[in-house]
Amino acid sequence: MSNTIYNKADSILEIRGIDYISGQMHDRIKAISNKSTDEEFKKIYKELSANTGNDGFFLRSHVIEELSRLSDNEISRYLKYRYAYEVYPQEKIVTLYPPLVQIEPTSICNYRCVFCYQTDERLTNKKNGHIGQMSLELFKDIVDQLEGNVEAITLASRGEPTVNRHLDKMLQYLSGKFLAVKVNTNAFKLDEKLSHAILESDIQTLVFSADAADAQLYSELRVNGNLDKVLKNIRRFISIKEKCYSNSRLITRVSGVRYDKRQSIESMESLWGDLVEQVMFVDYNPWENVYDSNKKGINIPCTDLWRRMFIWWDGKVGACDVDYLTTLMSASVKDNSISEIWQGELYHSLRKSHLENNRENIEPCTRCVTI
Ligand code: SF4
Repeated sequence: MSNTIYNKADSILEIRGIDYISGQMHDRIKAISNKSTDEEFKKIYKELSANTGNDGFFLRSHVIEELSRLSDNEISRYLKYRYAYEVYPQEKIVTLYPPLVQIEPTSICNYRCVFCYQTDERLTNKKNGHIGQMSLELFKDIVDQLEGNVEAITLASRGEPTVNRHLDKMLQYLSGKFLAVKVNTNAFKLDEKLSHAILESDIQTLVFSADAADAQLYSELRVNGNLDKVLKNIRRFISIKEKCYSNSRLITRVSGVRYDKRQSIESMESLWGDLVEQVMFVDYNPWENVYDSNKKGINIPCTDLWRRMFIWWDGKVGACDVDYLTTLMSASVKDNSISEIWQGELYHSLRKSHLENNRENIEPCTRCVTI
């Protein structure tokens, strides 16, 4: 497997299933901007409309899809978030809150995918203290801090969110508070009750993590997984969505990690294409062995430090999920507020080191391919 450079904002390799609607969307955003008195939003629109290439701020097709499902009132909020997510990490602007927060309902996973840190016993051995489930109380406290300050939340990180038995209540608590909530799941535990809980909530994107279209390859990559069971669960979910929640604006996506040359977007489409709205591969990042891998010789500042914060199940803060053993940070949302940590000394010195070309002296950044 080659060590390709991995840029989070650009990590989508292949995608199908979305019509480019930039013409219509552009007209709609223009009309909203013309009526708006929000100078920040007007500036963003101006930059967007002047941009005809793939540099600077532009809208990818899956972002357009998310935008198209929002009301006019929500569009300016969403675009401001998206701008902060994509442009601020390039310009090294630190906001009051992270543009995106990834919350980990649990670090436990029922799978042992070959490309995942769940294969590392330093993470999964309970004695090391990395394994557990977030309490509903802590989750609510985090959401209370983020509501009104952050638009994008992803429920997922080191573990499988559906393992947390409070997930339905967590989704209920999130409802209506954010514009870009994404939940990632391997769908193994996606039963009827949880399907209703997801569809009753107001999340924007449900991502089914699957990398192959045949059972053999799926099981090789997603160790402990079962493609037949996952397919059955996803089919039932889609059927419930169509029958009981026909007005739902939820986007469904199958997303695989491009890891093995036997994978192909065509076979993925033929299996998943009629079930979900988006099918994509994301680039492989060697998550499973960063601490033991070779130094990569990359000295470009990592965009994650300006883009997103990870909050683990126990309130500890991770700079990224590449550092799944949390060696870079020693902060907890139980001790300080999310905004204090994001703007605090630990993040500041890590960002400074990256900006001053010291990434190669930081573990595990020196072994990581994220830029
Ligand atoms: S390990 Fe360092 S370089 Fe890699 S994603 Fe994390 S912060 Fe960025």
